[in-house]
Amino acid sequence: MKKNDLFTVAIEDMSEDGAGIGRTDGYIWFVKDTVIGDVVEAGVMKMKKNYGFARLVRIIDPSPSRVEPECPVARQCGGCQLQAMSYEEQLRFKERKIRNHLSRLGGIPADQIPMEPIMGMENPWRYRNKAQFPFGKNKNGEIITGFYAGRTHAIIEHEDCLLGVEENKEILEIIRNFMKEYKIEPYDEGAHRGLVRHALIRKGFATGELMVCLVINGRSLPAAGVLTERLRAVPGMTSISLSVNQEKTNVIMGQEIISLWGPGYITDRIGDVTYRISPLSFYQVNPVQTKKLYETALEYADLKGGETVWDLYCGIGTISLFLAQKAGQVYGVEIVPQAIRDAEENARLNHMENVEFFVGKAEEVLPEQYEKNHISADVIVVDPPRKGCDAKCLETIVKMQPERLVYISCDSATLGRDVKYLRENGYELKRVRGCDMFGQTGHCECVVKMEKN
Ligand code: SAH
Repeated sequence: MKKNDLFTVAIEDMSEDGAGIGRTDGYIWFVKDTVIGDVVEAGVMKMKKNYGFARLVRIIDPSPSRVEPECPVARQCGGCQLQAMSYEEQLRFKERKIRNHLSRLGGIPADQIPMEPIMGMENPWRYRNKAQFPFGKNKNGEIITGFYAGRTHAIIEHEDCLLGVEENKEILEIIRNFMKEYKIEPYDEGAHRGLVRHALIRKGFATGELMVCLVINGRSLPAAGVLTERLRAVPGMTSISLSVNQEKTNVIMGQEIISLWGPGYITDRIGDVTYRISPLSFYQVNPVQTKKLYETALEYADLKGGETVWDLYCGIGTISLFLAQKAGQVYGVEIVPQAIRDAEENARLNHMENVEFFVGKAEEVLPEQYEKNHISADVIVVDPPRKGCDAKCLETIVKMQPERLVYISCDSATLGRDVKYLRENGYELKRVRGCDMFGQTGHCECVVKMEKN
């Protein structure tokens, strides 16, 4: 076969990033926009030795789990890889992915993995508390905002993403009309000219507080007073600011924040803990599911009240503070200094005195504290980025011999790899549970409990 040839294929599986997988004579095809159970006509795009990529041409026989995507730009945008799949099927897909990884990479027979039912969302729409919209122009020279099309920087005009809050639309319209009226140019990446790059919008789901931060290629915004006046009319508006980003870069936010109105932050609550969120703070994007995830982590940690607990990769201390409600002493470790400042502020805000934070790499702070200060741990919680835990970090964890380990993972492949090492070094996998934080997308969060043998 060669480029643009058409063929029929049955989709039997899905890749990590949500492309359908099918076979013809043992050769593997990846076909985007298909769903397990579909029989489709596909067109060859690119062929490698053992596998190839094809595009969906026509659905011959739709899968029973196929649904009409709710979003009109689902295919172009590419942010939601699983929108054409019913939500129940999405959850089964994610559960299967976790089980496969723990089995294949973790070395545990698939039927012996102590899986508990995945925690799905009650409403898998409008769950994101944060969105970043790029500004640009369309062919007619009109100012537009929306999302970058998959793997490109072409803006797809779309102001009402169904994963985001309803207020986004109103806020973007205010900004867009304001720019038009005051002749403020959107940023042009190619020419490195123009002022308005992105709008960051955040909402505290528990408090209703809204934040708008306009990222600009400059140090001031003409007629800023008019814009703040108009944005303040949106119910819940709490903080309006500018972020200065004059670099030629893909990084969205600039590090300098100029407050235009309000305290410069919003607050939110997860369970009984209050968090202060600044424009640059990391904060979980799905607070409803985050609560379930943290509650499960707390349950797995099985704290009685006197324990010493380490929370590695702690971010702004969200999990640390959750654990501190039940533990004797909690130590958090995080690489980003600003996040630790937020974590300390959050501890004060919640009057929690049994937490202490360290800035640095988990794989450096933990060995150092263990060797120099002979610190101990009854329970260690880790929540690393996608690449998983560093070898040195795992090695130290094993030396410290905590009774229990709670591993929160946003990539079950690296989780599988780390679980294998921990199993070979005296820990047993006791409980596993998926938590869907990112409905409609291929990503899945999961939490496991390991115990010393
Ligand atoms: N537990 C937090 C954040 C998890 S995200 C929460 O639930 O909100 C992972 C965090 O690990 C990020 O904040 C990132 O900055 C941090 N990080 C990345 N590499 C690290 C390392 N080597 N050591 C410590 N922290 C690291």
